[in-house]
Amino acid sequence: MSIELFEAYAFCPRCGAARHSTQPPRPFRCHACGYTVFFGPVAAVGGIIVNEAGKVLLLVRAREPGKGLLGMPGGFVDPEESGEEALHREVFEEVGIKITNTSYLMTAPNRYLYQGVQIPVVDLFFVAEVAQGQQIAPEHTEVAEWMWTDLTDEVLENMAFKSNQIALEFYRRGLENG
Ligand SMILES: [Zn+2]
Repeated sequence: MSIELFEAYAFCPRCGAARHSTQPPRPFRCHACGYTVFFGPVAAVGGIIVNEAGKVLLLVRAREPGKGLLGMPGGFVDPEESGEEALHREVFEEVGIKITNTSYLMTAPNRYLYQGVQIPVVDLFFVAEVAQGQQIAPEHTEVAEWMWTDLTDEVLENMAFKSNQIALEFYRRGLENG
């Protein structure tokens, strides 16, 4: 059971007035004070991190959404932060490594179910290499297991998020086509 983000706004977050039922869902516009909430996606990053052998770093997620399924290192972009900065920060927070040679790959829409609310997300995907001499040190509240893996069909089918699967397929096609 979940609701869309706009449905979670029953009251104006600035003045507290109840939402008029006649208001269109997007954006939320307060009839009392005019405050407007746009329900565009929040930005998140995902890293396809490759080692010297060409294997990709994937993680078994330790928590919902997608607990027990595979994910790639990444997370939400903070205010005043670039996608590249967010990627470096999130990778270091989750698996304790520094990355290098980061390049943009593609974007894909995603949804993140949080506390029963569907949050629209746009995922920004990058390819990066693990820097020399780095040892994986996972953050155990987020990462149950980690692996350097080939991108087999079985691996791709076990990704927690469709957007991750799409990005990995896109990356794999690029490798196949040289
Ligand atoms: Zn208001």
